[in-house]
Amino acid sequence: MTEQEWKAARRLMVERDLRGRGVKDERVLAAMERVPRHRFVPPELRAHAYEDRALPIGHGQTISQPYIVALMTELLELRGGEKVLEVGTGSGYQAAVLAELGCEVYTVELVEPLGKAAKHRLEELGYDRVHVRIGDAYHGWPEAAPFDAAIFTAATPRVPEPILEQLSEGARIVAPLDEGAGYQTLVVGRKEGGRVSWSPVAGVAFVPMRGLVRTPEEN
Ligand code: SAH
Repeated sequence: MTEQEWKAARRLMVERDLRGRGVKDERVLAAMERVPRHRFVPPELRAHAYEDRALPIGHGQTISQPYIVALMTELLELRGGEKVLEVGTGSGYQAAVLAELGCEVYTVELVEPLGKAAKHRLEELGYDRVHVRIGDAYHGWPEAAPFDAAIFTAATPRVPEPILEQLSEGARIVAPLDEGAGYQTLVVGRKEGGRVSWSPVAGVAFVPMRGLVRTPEEN
């Protein structure tokens, strides 16, 4: 495929799968029309990069479905200039979308080879607003706090205490909340007075957030 053909495939995805399914934020739509998703998926899956589905990226992890990336990004109501914490770098795609919106992105990945590959890819593509750290996102990123927004791209039973502390008053949070028994709800919240009040958005299926947020048996 030529760059022109990739661009046409991307435009079609934005119109059909994002705008067509109700994503309205023009800045989010424009950002997703710019990020070359085919560069974030394994070479053998490139032909599927602009289909509206999650794809495997190795190590049992996935790059999220474009519609869900758009929905979650839209829910953060970003205007540009915000500092955003991402839990779960994965391929780096979501982080690139946030960077296209003019945000400074601090993203943490537990699986070292994934984090390294994403860092390299983001550098190559010129996303210098994205900072990648390898480790357990449970700890957040204290040196970069406070954050105006947080996005969890792995399902978590709760917002870990250190992350809650690193969010500024009024910060927006979007997360797949793991309610147990294989049931997850995408929720959006705002930190007010040191706690988060949530509103449910939709049922979703994400890989689990692992590490300190879980018991040893769950990991
Ligand atoms: N945002 C990614 C999708 C990530 S899938 C993208 O755009 O491609 C979720 C990722 O969260 C996986 O890569 C997984 O390894 C990572 N993860 C799981 N638990 C984590 C933790 N405690 N800290 C950091 N990353 C974690």
